[in-house]
Amino acid sequence: MKYNFGAGPGKLAKEVLEEASKAITNFNNTGLSILEISHRSQYFMDVVDEAESLVRDLLEVPETHDIIFLQGGASTQFAMVPMNLLPPDGFAAYLDTGVWANKAIQEAKRFGEVVVVGSSINANYNFLPRDFKVSSNVAYFHYTSNNTIYGTAFSFTPEVTVPLVCDMSSDIFSRRIDVSKYNLIYAGAQKNAGPAGLTIVIIKKGILGHVKRVIPFIFDYRLHIENKSMYNTPAVYAIYVAMLNFRWLTRKGGVAAIELENNAKAALLYREIDDNPLFVGTARTEDRSRMNVTFTMVTAGLEQEFLNFSRDRYIIGIEGHRSTGGFRVSLYNAVTLQDVEVLVSAMREFSTQKEHEIRYSAMHGG
Ligand SMILES: *Cc1c(COP(=O)(O)O)cnc(C)c1O
Repeated sequence: MKYNFGAGPGKLAKEVLEEASKAITNFNNTGLSILEISHRSQYFMDVVDEAESLVRDLLEVPETHDIIFLQGGASTQFAMVPMNLLPPDGFAAYLDTGVWANKAIQEAKRFGEVVVVGSSINANYNFLPRDFKVSSNVAYFHYTSNNTIYGTAFSFTPEVTVPLVCDMSSDIFSRRIDVSKYNLIYAGAQKNAGPAGLTIVIIKKGILGHVKRVIPFIFDYRLHIENKSMYNTPAVYAIYVAMLNFRWLTRKGGVAAIELENNAKAALLYREIDDNPLFVGTARTEDRSRMNVTFTMVTAGLEQEFLNFSRDRYIIGIEGHRSTGGFRVSLYNAVTLQDVEVLVSAMREFSTQKEHEIRYSAMHGG
């Protein structure tokens, strides 16, 4: 058993993994594997219908919005969003809050004019720009609700008067959201919703078909909506496992219940970072993410030692992203408060040990 704080693909609950593994050999007592049934069979149609209705309930998605299950990850959405929503002679506003936001910007530039209304690149994205202005003539405003690499997150919906589009890959299902405020929400599933290979898209009805451009059929949201995510073979197994995960989340009391747990987990870890003399948080306090907690060591050169120390205690996945260094602890829904307690104890134990070593070497003139 490992304490997995990896950033993605992230941890899934043990119950979900056990059920998922059973379905590989015998899906719902059909005597068939989930991997060898037709995606057009009633068996699988029921899975998709249940997945959709669970997403609708968990996120309180109103009837004004469609839910579809696609492939290609959030990165494909970086392109599909402007393809479908940005007129060739139009403008879109983007907020540059990290590598993912920036990739979305680069992709959108291939389809129209992009106005970057705010950026924190000069501070290595350790905060969220707040004083940006979005002019009313843009087709939409795009932002990233949780910046997985830097540990910053919007705990609120930015107030703009234009259609909102959001990349929620790393915090969807972690907190309550008001879907009615958005024209489009997308999320790669592998951070907090399910396995890699599935992308969830929530789209307001009536916003499609207004852009004059040739959109390849496979990238046209309308076809995926009309065909109820069955325009082509969907990510059958990934949808199935995500559905199990949505059932698990529903049994736990849904998004409101998990949000309280997520708040408690993040509070515990941030308190340790702030109290422990050896560690320091990297994101600006008011912009701290509850999903990805980033921090470094005050004393340089001890990072690898702490990683080894943690690994001996079965703690894994806490190395920072290659572009930031330090540490990143991901607290996705399946990570428990007990897991965080184990990590916090390790941090405390390590810093006490270091303090002793420093005192000892001072005493002995080392
Ligand atoms: C991981 C991540 C992505 C990239 O997702 P892919 O599924 O690998 O394309 C995009 N945006 C955010 C916020 C992410 O965390």
